[in-house]
Amino acid sequence: MKIAIAGFQHETNCYNPTLTELDDFVRADSWPELLSGEDVLRGTRNMNLPIAGFIEAAEEGDDTLFPILWCAAEPSGYVSDAAFETISSRLLEAIGTGQQFDAIYLDLHGAMVSETYADGERALLRMLRAQVREEIPIVISLDLHANISPELFSLTNGLCIFRTYPHLDMAETGARAYRLLSYIFEQKPLYKSFLQVPYLIPLHAQTTMTGAAAEIYQTLKNQPVVSADIALGFSAADLPNTRASCVAYAKTQEQADQTCDTIKRAFDMCQSKFDLTLLNVEDAAAMTLAHAKPKPLVFADVQDNAGGGAYSNTVHLLKAVYQHQCDSVLMGLFCFPKLAAEAHTLGVGGRFEVTMDATELDRNGGCFVAEGQVIALSDGYFPYSGEVYGGGMATMGASAALRFVTDKGWIDVVITSIKAQCLDLAQFTHLGLIPEQYKAICVKSTVHFRAAFEPIADRVYSVSAPGLLPCDLSQITYRNLAPEVRVLDGANSV
Ligand SMILES: [Zn+2]
Repeated sequence: MKIAIAGFQHETNCYNPTLTELDDFVRADSWPELLSGEDVLRGTRNMNLPIAGFIEAAEEGDDTLFPILWCAAEPSGYVSDAAFETISSRLLEAIGTGQQFDAIYLDLHGAMVSETYADGERALLRMLRAQVREEIPIVISLDLHANISPELFSLTNGLCIFRTYPHLDMAETGARAYRLLSYIFEQKPLYKSFLQVPYLIPLHAQTTMTGAAAEIYQTLKNQPVVSADIALGFSAADLPNTRASCVAYAKTQEQADQTCDTIKRAFDMCQSKFDLTLLNVEDAAAMTLAHAKPKPLVFADVQDNAGGGAYSNTVHLLKAVYQHQCDSVLMGLFCFPKLAAEAHTLGVGGRFEVTMDATELDRNGGCFVAEGQVIALSDGYFPYSGEVYGGGMATMGASAALRFVTDKGWIDVVITSIKAQCLDLAQFTHLGLIPEQYKAICVKSTVHFRAAFEPIADRVYSVSAPGLLPCDLSQITYRNLAPEVRVLDGANSV
């Protein structure tokens, strides 16, 4: 096969008012910068990225790849029309009518919203389908947090979705997309089925490592299909297609339809089993004070996750542990570029009045002021050590570790200049901070942190504090969801 490959990824948080501009796709963050042509092969190799898995699988065969471009921006607000037009035009022009290709593979997210298009991927696929020859198969891979419309499904010949949250199988999903494309290319009989599942599940309850989601994903095993997948949906978008969904490809229509029905029934059976528990910050602080076991407690500030489009700078949990005079607490990552620069100017050992004011971006973000000391500095550029960002380099910009002394000990806080989700131990260890040595670790992440932090934790808790990534869905008024969608919003405190 001669396969055109490209990637254009964005998870759009519609509650974040900051537009995602072209430059956000062009520069590197936790993933590479915009890559063109052969650089797509070189720049993604050995990374946990769908396109990397696709490339590796394709290179094992006799296929020829025509890399066009690959780009991703950290989740944030609506994609600007300029960014969407520029990137999609480059992609569409390079593919043309597809005359020189046998197939097309796209590495997409599935929750992209631009200023003009409520469903960015559907808009892109409509344009692509309109210009390429009908017989050319188009296969795509999507994130588990995709809100999939029936039309997006029908515009593609094959669609694969991550099966794990934390997303440990991004590269593996790309490899599965390649295998599905190979199957389609051999023109064996293939029937497809798609079903939107009427549940909106908060992200902190979506972990596939345990509980209801793990049970639902078990149903993918032993189905009579060539390929089947589930998307759990993305709650930070009040749109008609926001919800879970499933896809199946099988040798008969009946098998494909039955598989989707089986998955839907699994959701119906498990809908009350999702763990929606959210602690409040006061309880998290009290538990930290009382904690006496050797391993740390891990508290996830789930609604202020940069990886879900939040600002990663709210201070409610920090204020609570400081006011309770907790000792031995590690917290990250707070994005305050000016504060990071101030710490770099002062140097290690410097003491100053630290102001962490999140209200500049969000009036609910809170402000924390206290005397602090710079205990470590870095350029924020280092190799990730965990599986989620496996193979990638961190690009956090000028970063600093600050120490706030309390009655009983201290609270260490990591400040960055570029937003990054706190999910990898190296984000602390590269500054000389050893997470295992603290009584409590507070991470701004929703679920991805679990891959690296659960193994070192005594217990893990989700904490509810203000932030732009809605997890306590009882606080959200959705206006545009399909009427049959049931929002799982039974958030409760313990
Ligand atoms: Zn995701």
